[in-house]
Formats: sequence, structure tokens, C-alpha cells
Amino acid sequence: MAATEPAPVELPPAHEGILRRQALRESAARTYARSLPIVPVRARGMTIEGADGRRYLDCLSGAGTLALGHNHPVVLEAVRKVIDSGAPLHVLDLATPVKDAFTTELFSTLPREFADNARIQFCGPAGTDAVEAAFKLVRAATGRSELLAFTGAYHGMTAGALAASGGATDVRVTRLPFPHRYRCPFGAGGERGADIAARWTEYLLDDPKSGVPEPAAMILEPVQGEGGVNPAPDSWMRRMREITRERSIALIADEVQTGVGRTGTFWAVEHSGIVPDVMVLSKAIGGSLPLAVIVYRSELDLWQPGAHAGTFRGNQLAMAAGAATLAYVRENRLAERAGTLGARMLAALQALSADHPSIGDVRGRGLMIGLELVDPEAGPPTVTAENGSAPPPDPALATAVQQECLRRGLIVELGGRHGAVVRLLPPLTLTDEQATAVVDRLADALRAAERSPYRRAAAGPTR
Ligand code: PMP
Repeated sequence: MAATEPAPVELPPAHEGILRRQALRESAARTYARSLPIVPVRARGMTIEGADGRRYLDCLSGAGTLALGHNHPVVLEAVRKVIDSGAPLHVLDLATPVKDAFTTELFSTLPREFADNARIQFCGPAGTDAVEAAFKLVRAATGRSELLAFTGAYHGMTAGALAASGGATDVRVTRLPFPHRYRCPFGAGGERGADIAARWTEYLLDDPKSGVPEPAAMILEPVQGEGGVNPAPDSWMRRMREITRERSIALIADEVQTGVGRTGTFWAVEHSGIVPDVMVLSKAIGGSLPLAVIVYRSELDLWQPGAHAGTFRGNQLAMAAGAATLAYVRENRLAERAGTLGARMLAALQALSADHPSIGDVRGRGLMIGLELVDPEAGPPTVTAENGSAPPPDPALATAVQQECLRRGLIVELGGRHGAVVRLLPPLTLTDEQATAVVDRLADALRAAERSPYRRAAAGPTR
């Protein structure tokens, strides 16, 4: 009777339905979901498996959060232990054994000179909340409101809630030149460009008619992440420390992305040896769960009780996962491993750039690596001392490379002011074989993207 049975209806695979519903129901402001149309259902280490059965090597790592990759056994064990113990999961900012252990572990990883005289504030769970807390702290401590920040910086997305609650929000930011090596605004690059950038900073601060009121603090990233992987030279970091110390300006190091071994030292400030006044920490410190804190010099602890409150400041699972992650990175010297392996990947990508004029620059520190893609045929190039010339960025090619990577089972992120920097943020646990596979797939994706008639319009919105 088979002839009379209705033909089976061809159903689209389940993951297509999920993606379609996401596109219909979620906000136009969604970000990663636009360029990475996958439906993760399982993950371990560096590998993510999609609902369609495809596997990917994850070089995004939750935007630099997963120091140990996905679902590391020590993280899972730490989380299970808290759940099995019957401890409360929600405790506002009350003291608990889990929090006590987290704080002890965190302080043991921080530079000695800093940790010996430091306080910690548990903030709302996002990095941006800790940045807000840092600003409030320094303003309360100095009585000043002006802030100094740098071109290419990224510190978060919050604005407005305090104003709507009737709080003081008269924050003014003076933007200073970051020592970009490749696109140096002074056409110098390298140490010379960094020296000019530092001189400009000094000049502004010391000129009584510069229009820049005495600032409370300077905030900087030791390696700019979202800004396109721009490592600050160590000498410039030391200069910023001197400049701020001499003028009683608090120095805030935003290590939200650079922390926990990512750049080759446990904290990125260790490269230059500087001791900041405030450190902003999030992402990896929560071992893949949301957690954000500021740690700061005790003398700054002049704000009032409740000056920075928030309901979700006591995530016990995140503290347990975070403590386990910090201890694992420390005990297994994963910062050193990130330094060695990162240098090897950087060298391989630099070798690749010799055959690809579309790779304008390869840069990074440890396992925070960026490839700036350019259009060598679209002039005019910017002259820089170190690299000779920097052709205009090519965000459409970067988008095409990201898509070609995805087709080859590799997840990469884009960044930089023009969205033309392909960013690699693999977990610190990646193996030599995985590192080779990442470079090979990326090289292959670049070749395919260069051949494809990618459209300029293909370049989507950037973060
Ligand atoms: N600071 C830096 C250096 C960051 O990279 C980020 C996030 N990419 C933030 C702050 C903000 O963190 P969040 O997205 O958790 O608010």
C-alpha cells in the first residue's frame, strides 16, 4: 500500500528553525550571533559542536573569557562542589567560604607590591560595571571628575542608569593618543611614536590653558583588545605610570581582557613592571561564569557604603569556577605557555604575511593576536616609520575571512576601529596541534577570501 502513503514532508534541520526564530525574535542590536550563525549544543576545551553536528575550533573563547576553554574538568568540579554542598547560590555581597577562597586565590596571583596593600570591591557581573565602579572610586578619592582615556579604547557599554536614578554623572573624558604602532597618528610608529604620544599627554596636563581640568584618573588597556589588538610598549606604560604618579592622578589598568595569563604574564601590567592604583578585572576571573571586581590601593578606599551597589555581586558558582581557574593557570604556568605558543603563532602568521599583501600587520602579545587586513590597491597609504606604509583597512575582506574560517570549522572574532582586524583569542590550554590547525585554517580561509569576489557591502556592523 506504499503507493497511497503521503510523501514524507521535508523538515528543515532543527538548528535552522532555532536560527530563524532567533532572527525573528531577538534584537537588531545582537552582535556575535550575526556573523556566527551556529547553534552550540556541546563544548569541551577548544571545540564547540553545533546542533547540525559540525565541530568548530573556538578562537573567540567567549570574547576572551574562557582561559581554560569550555567546560574544563576543574571548573565543572568546582561548580558541582558548591551545588552539592547546599551553600546558598545568591548572597548579595555577604561573606562566604567560597568568596573568601576566591579572594585569597586572586590576591595570591596579583603583583605582590599591589596585593599587599589592596582592597577588593565585588561589582555587578559585567566588566563595564567594574569600570563604572573604578570611576566612582577615584572620583570619591580625589574629589575630581575628569578622566583620561585613549584613542582605540574599549571599556564597556553602560550609560544612563545612574543619571536616571539621580546620581552624579558629569563625567568628562579627555581622549589621548594611544601609541598605535601600525597606524601611528604621528607617522612615526614604534618607540618614537610612543614618545611623541607621551609628550602630548604631558603637554596637555601641564599647560594651564589646555582646557583639560585636573583629572581624577587615567584608564588604559595594556593591550587594547576590541580596538584591534594593540599592545602598548612597556616603556610607554612606565611613562604613563610616572606621569600619573607625579601629578597625583590615579592609574586604572583595565585588565578585563588581558588578565589571567592571556598575554604571557598572569597580569599584563607585569610586562612593564608597573603597579597601577586600580585594576579592573572580569571575564576569565569567573572561570566562564559572570564575575567582575576592582582591586585598588587601600588609600583610595574613601567612598561611602553603598557607593557602588548591585543585586548580583555574590555569584557563588562564578567565584568557585573563578578560583579553580586562577589556581589552575597559576599551578600549570599557563601564562608562560601562552607567551611561548603565542610567539610561535605570531611568527607563523608573520611568515604568511610575506605572501599576502592584504595582511597589513600582524601583532599581539601571548594568545591575544590580531591580523589587520588592508586593501593595498586602495590608496593613499598612511606613512609610518616602522612599517613603511599602511594601506587603508579592508573590513569587507575581514568579514569574508571570518565567514571562510567558519566554513573551515574555525571561529574567529573581528575587531579594530574599522572592523578589519581578525582576532584570535584561543584558550590558554590549546595544544600545539590545535595551534597549527588554527594557523592552517586561517591561511586557507584568507586565500579563499582573497579569491572570492567579496562585496564591500558585505561588511556588517562592527562592535
Ligand atoms: N574592558 C575591556 C578591556 C573589555 O575588553 C571589555 C569587554 N570586551 C569590557 C571592559 C567590558 O566588559 P563587559 O562586556 O563584560 O561589560
